[in-house]
Amino acid sequence: MKCYYHPETDAVAACTNCGKAICQSCSINVTGRLICQTCLASGSATRYPAQSIQPARSTNTLAIVSLVLGIMGLCGSFLFSVPAWITGHMALKQFTENPNQEGQGMAKAGRILGIVATVLWVIFIVCYVGFLVIMMISAGGSSYK
Ligand SMILES: [Zn+2]
Ligand SMILES: [Zn+2]
Repeated sequence: MKCYYHPETDAVAACTNCGKAICQSCSINVTGRLICQTCLASGSATRYPAQSIQPARSTNTLAIVSLVLGIMGLCGSFLFSVPAWITGHMALKQFTENPNQEGQGMAKAGRILGIVATVLWVIFIVCYVGFLVIMMISAGGSSYK
């Protein structure tokens, strides 16, 4: 295939905007997409990537919520850890449906923080309750004396 603009030159790519075959000197990389000089000059290509990249750059809200809750849960209360776990899980589910969204790392971190904090709090509560039970047994035992 030859370049649409240079019939003597071999094409190296197709313009992602108009689909014409273009050579090395015609192709221009605009935000990760190859477009031809005509499309760049007309401005239609620079408008299209802006539109297609706009949703791709949107960060998943649930991922942010999950991370914030995860951090709050770790230094606050496990009341935040369980929602962090759930929102992180929900966010990751949304990423499988819409992989263009950002914040996957945050969702993973939020979910892990949520799980870790929940497990820590459960261990803490079990130990605390266990300690109380031992105290009550020993206190009850001593009262019989
Ligand atoms: Zn083009
Ligand atoms: Zn060319």
